Amino acid sequence: MSAVAPRPPEAAAATVGLVRAYGDGPGAVRALDGVTMWLPSGRFTAVMGPSGSGKSTLLHCLAGLDRPTGGQVLLGDTDLGGLSEAELTAVRRDRIGFVFQDGNLLPHLSAGENIDLAASLAGRRPDRVWRAELVERLGISDRLTHLPGELSGGQRQRVAVARALLGRPELVVADEPTGALDTASGRELLGLLRACVDDYGQTVVMVTHDPQAAAVSDQVLLLRDGVAAGRITAPTPERVLAALGDLSAGEQL
Ligand code: ADP
Ligand code: MG
Repeated sequence: MSAVAPRPPEAAAATVGLVRAYGDGPGAVRALDGVTMWLPSGRFTAVMGPSGSGKSTLLHCLAGLDRPTGGQVLLGDTDLGGLSEAELTAVRRDRIGFVFQDGNLLPHLSAGENIDLAASLAGRRPDRVWRAELVERLGISDRLTHLPGELSGGQRQRVAVARALLGRPELVVADEPTGALDTASGRELLGLLRACVDDYGQTVVMVTHDPQAAAVSDQVLLLRDGVAAGRITAPTPERVLAALGDLSAGEQL
């Protein structure tokens, strides 16, 4: 793992007082209740917290997939809240790679077509060398003509990762990407996300429940009940486990 810079590097993305509420009145749910956090540029951040603490909502807001109720999301110098739908679509396409919890592939397109989809839609030619390296590292080079329904859950997830990384987005957002993978595939995927940071200078943010996976990151942000509840720098599995224990015991970290 690379050393964390002694000075905080510039933020690739940040949220300021981020609020996402569902419904209103007494039944309203505040999935995010004023989250201020930042993702250091060219670093790997893991997000952890109990189920329902707002992790997926935070990632969707960071990736411009969900419009916040209040507060700000900044991608570099761009305030996503100030963008039109068309501008936001372009930002999602050109600057962000999202790996969804369930892969989210189009069922009638082959694995290869799914990987190339964003580039095809944008009328761009994918970088063939990078594409070949990606599918090789992900172990899916002999699966590219298969439909998603003909692949295992783990293979589908790896196709989704290749799709997200193909355009070399400045920000890679992954929601529990190793959840459906066996140990070896999970480790390979984490290695690839780590390489995105170390070898290609991308910024990665990943939700995980797994302390071993979180320990691959440079910092872990903890969420509880829609608020930021702590930060672990230079995480190890032991430190992450201890922090999660404190979090569920209700301690302020
Ligand atoms: P996590 O990913 O940490 O499990 P989520 O971000 O998915 O948490 O959800 C945070 C909270 O917001 C939960 O209480 C969840 O039930 C609620 N929530 C998420 N999406 C919706 C929605 N579309 N409508 C209503 N409530 C939602
Ligand atoms: Mg979630």
